[in-house]
Amino acid sequence: MPTFSVRTRARSEFVDVTAQVTELLRASGVRDGVCVVYCPHTTAAVTIQENADPDVVHDLLLWLNQHIPKDLPGFRHAEGNSDSHLKAALIGPSVMVPIEDGQLAFGTWQGIYFCEFDGPRTRSVRVQFLTAAADPVG
Ligand code: ZN
Repeated sequence: MPTFSVRTRARSEFVDVTAQVTELLRASGVRDGVCVVYCPHTTAAVTIQENADPDVVHDLLLWLNQHIPKDLPGFRHAEGNSDSHLKAALIGPSVMVPIEDGQLAFGTWQGIYFCEFDGPRTRSVRVQFLTAAADPVG
């Protein structure tokens, strides 16, 4: 499965990975289908959000950090990063984007973001392209 790395620079950060996914799609030669972008980590996530105004993802991160404090009374997980797991669970581990004529069929303002919640570290992102069978059974 095609994979790429993301080097994050902060404990919490949204990284635009649209260009990496677009390059893997181009290299695959897939023209029509669905692209699945998957984050194989429990304290990071993937989402689709506005990539025109960088203040949008700034504000999302601000809200998450204000509403999910690192040291919430009662957290038990010994690693001390329950807030990271919670943020990752809320955003989710994957997104799907339709592929049309070899392009990711985004809306005008959309991009794919890797969401780091326990960085900085080097992460991986997996990308799978699904195509309809040429000869469907049945
Ligand atoms: Zn943990």
